[in-house]
Amino acid sequence: MLAEHITTEYRIALPPWVGDELADVPDVVPDRDDRMRLVHRLADRNWREGNGGPFAALVAESETGRIVAVGVNVVLASGVSSGHAEVVALGLAQGRSGTWDLGGAGLPAHELVVNWRPCIQCYGATMWSGVRTLVVAGDGPELEEITTFDEGPLGSDWAEQFERRGIRVVRDVLREEALGVFRAYRAGVDSGGSTVYNARQGTSAGTTAGTTASTSAGTTAGTTASTTEATA
Ligand SMILES: [Zn+2]
Repeated sequence: MLAEHITTEYRIALPPWVGDELADVPDVVPDRDDRMRLVHRLADRNWREGNGGPFAALVAESETGRIVAVGVNVVLASGVSSGHAEVVALGLAQGRSGTWDLGGAGLPAHELVVNWRPCIQCYGATMWSGVRTLVVAGDGPELEEITTFDEGPLGSDWAEQFERRGIRVVRDVLREEALGVFRAYRAGVDSGGSTVYNARQGTSAGTTAGTTASTSAGTTAGTTASTTEATA
């Protein structure tokens, strides 16, 4: 019967190497640039470790800079398509804070620091999280152009919608460094060492088979999404 076969939980966890990366990081990182610097470092190591895409995030108390949680993209490691850095960081922050609302009464204002503007999934996850500020390294088309990830149909008024709900958007914090991570990732993909995991992964578009994102280019080439690593 179905009750004997369905799974009753799924696991999203930070990879062990994150502990090594955080070994010398203090509990409080007062400077916002330094917080983004940490995000870039985690994002760069994340794809090199084969854990997921070149994305990382953290949740901090805006005023003090106390780091509440960090997240990296764990889509490949977990086989869960929603395991984006923002979702992981927000979930871990809420777990540590004991509440689904990081903007709840009695809590300090929290911010989410990410190495680019959110995809459509993380747009919603951020909006419902209770953070009061979103800090992004950049928000242009460069992420998709360089990495070929499909970030979904995010409206041009995405930042305005955040502001309307009391979530301030801070942009262009160490932007060039973010692009540097994406370019390194792209080089890794082109050399066959990494996977762009958009759903319905294709095999054309001029790069190594199995490494090309297809959803934006429409080149599904008859492949089906693999539950182990090709889903998004
Ligand atoms: Zn996302």
